[in-house]
Parts: sequence; C-alpha cells; structure tokens
Amino acid sequence: MKITGVSVRTFTYTSQVGRDSEGHGHPAPPSEATQSLVTIETSDGVAGYAFGGIAAGVLERDVKPLLMGRDPFYRELIWQGLKERQRLNLATLSDKILTVVDCALWDLAGRALGQSVYKLLGAYRDKVPAYASTMCGDDLEGGLDTPEAYAAFAEWCMDRGYPAFKLHTWQPPVPGAPSPKRDVAACAAVREVVGSDVPMMLDPYHYYGREESLYLGRQLEKLGFLWMEEPMDEHSMSSYVWLARQLDLPICGPETAEGKMYTRAEWIKHDAADIVRGGVGDLGGITPLVKVAHLAEAFGMKMEVHGGGAANLHVLCAMGIPGLFYERGLLHPFVDYETPKPWLHQLEDPMDDEGYVHVSQEPGLGQQINFDYIDRNLVASW
Ligand code: MG
Repeated sequence: MKITGVSVRTFTYTSQVGRDSEGHGHPAPPSEATQSLVTIETSDGVAGYAFGGIAAGVLERDVKPLLMGRDPFYRELIWQGLKERQRLNLATLSDKILTVVDCALWDLAGRALGQSVYKLLGAYRDKVPAYASTMCGDDLEGGLDTPEAYAAFAEWCMDRGYPAFKLHTWQPPVPGAPSPKRDVAACAAVREVVGSDVPMMLDPYHYYGREESLYLGRQLEKLGFLWMEEPMDEHSMSSYVWLARQLDLPICGPETAEGKMYTRAEWIKHDAADIVRGGVGDLGGITPLVKVAHLAEAFGMKMEVHGGGAANLHVLCAMGIPGLFYERGLLHPFVDYETPKPWLHQLEDPMDDEGYVHVSQEPGLGQQINFDYIDRNLVASW
C-alpha cells in the first residue's frame, strides 16, 4: 500500500462560541467559522481522515514530499521526518500540523486493518471517567460570572453524571481578572455544593507569579483539590520546581510548553510537576503522546491527557496508568455540548449517566464524518 494523495478541504459552520481579545472561548451570538479536514489516500482505496488545517504551501513543500509514495504504516518514519523539517521551518510547520498528519495516518491504519485505534495501540479499557471542564470565567449574567454561578453549574454537572469538576477561572480581558482571591472563592463555592468527595481541579490564569501561585496552591490544599495546572508561564521550569517543592497539592504539567516528549522528560527529571501533562494537539499527534504516557509510567507517575476529542480518547483507552480522566468540554451553562458538531453524525465522546466516556469500536478513530455536510459547505480545497 502506498500513499497516493494528501488533500485539505475547508468548510464553514455556524459557531456559538466567540473568542475574546486574548483568544479564550465564550458563548457568543451565532457566527460563521471554518473547519478543515485532511484526507490521506492510498493505492488500496483506503483513506485516513483528521480534522485540522494545513496551509497549501506547507502541504506541498513540507508534508507531501514525506508522504507521497510511502507506505502509510511507516508512521514513525514520517513523524520523525516532519519533526526534523520543523527546525528550519518553525514559523509554518507547527506541532498542530504534525498532529493532523499523524492522526490521519492512525485513522488510516485502523480503517485498513478493520480495528479501532485504541486496540492497535494495545487496549486497556473501553471507557474512561470524564471530568466536566468549564470554559473560562466571563461577565455574562447567568453564565460563569460569579463564584455562585460556578457552584450552580457544578450542581448541574453532578446531576448530568460527571464524577469530577475542573474550573477554568477568570482571565483578562474579563473585568477584575486575574484575581487569586476570586479564583479561590469560586473553588470554595463549588466545593461547598459538590461535597468533599468529588475530585476537583483548577486551571487558573497562566501568568501568575510565584507568590500568587503558592497562595492558590495552599488554599486548594485546604479545599482538598486533586491538582492545579499551569498557574505560571511554563517556560520557567524553575518556577514550577520552586512551587512543587513547597506544596502537597499535585501540580499537573507541562501543558502548553513546546518541546514534545523532551520537555516532559526534563520536567520529570527536575521534579517540576507531580502529574505529567500533554495531549495530541500539544505534542504533535498520537505517536508522541504514547511516548509521553510510557515515560510517565516508567517513572511511576500519573499522566493526565490534555483536551478531548477522539484521538486523545483512544490513547487514554490504551494507557495502563490508573486514575485517569477524560477532559470533557469546554462546558458552559449556555452551550449545548451534547449535540454533535455539524460535520459529525455522532458525538465522538458520548458520556453515559455514570460519567464514563465510551471509545468508538468502529475502525480507525471512529469519527462518523458527515461528508455531505462538508461538501455542501466547502469554501476551499487543495
Ligand atoms: Mg489546562
């Protein structure tokens, strides 16, 4: 089997989520947005798919030369080749592009072999407990505008079956943000309504200093939190070593720091975090995420996968480390999360009443792609 084509289709949809000036998502009036689908075709007629964009120039110059004519099962060779090309093309060949190529190749392998990706990886389980992961705080009345609003939304999430709850609190440009005291007030209000047994986590403003982060950590220890993630710029690993040394509260990271598995290895070696972090989108695909999961396991550490979606769920279902959650969201009182995105026929992370998200048993990543919708709303293809 040889790769005979790599193509991108970009299409429109109506989004109910807008971005603030800092790039954080919030509920917003309906507006037109775009999404892209990458397709890798083969000489056997089998194709693999992944959602995400690749600019036309990057596709021709950096991606196609490594894929065309090659056996699509040579995922490691292709991933290493793309990684090496990044060194002189950092501005255009991002880890997001490595992610979409790698995920499409895994999807292709599953479809070719008639197996779901988590079984190709070596299955461990077919469902994972989820946590409700909120959007960032806002100033929308009845939204996530006060500590009490977080508490009311947490109650709703508990009724829906979520076994755990993570707050993303207020960040600029929301008025009054950032504020460690207000973050703690929201965490305390949620703890009050969910009770002492529900696992809770905090992801606050990412640019607090050391003192604010230590203050937050000590307050969360009193509230019995399970972990805190990314309260400071992750480029300063020394700040995380300083913080983790002083807290009993587990610190989970790094999440957004560049450097794939190399950065995670450095954080583990320096005791900069207690729980390892990373997702397909941060690391450059399923291939490097599995490497980080094995790295964490070998050091006797837990690993929490960042973000949702089919690819992250498949890796989670192949990880042998216990105590892991699927990050479901981002959730908000005004946003309907249970309706599939218009380019999919089904949710890729359906959750049952006990709070378990079930992985697809269909071949590949198992996304039920609505190709008719994509073709009807096509704006560009290359
Ligand atoms: Mg986070």
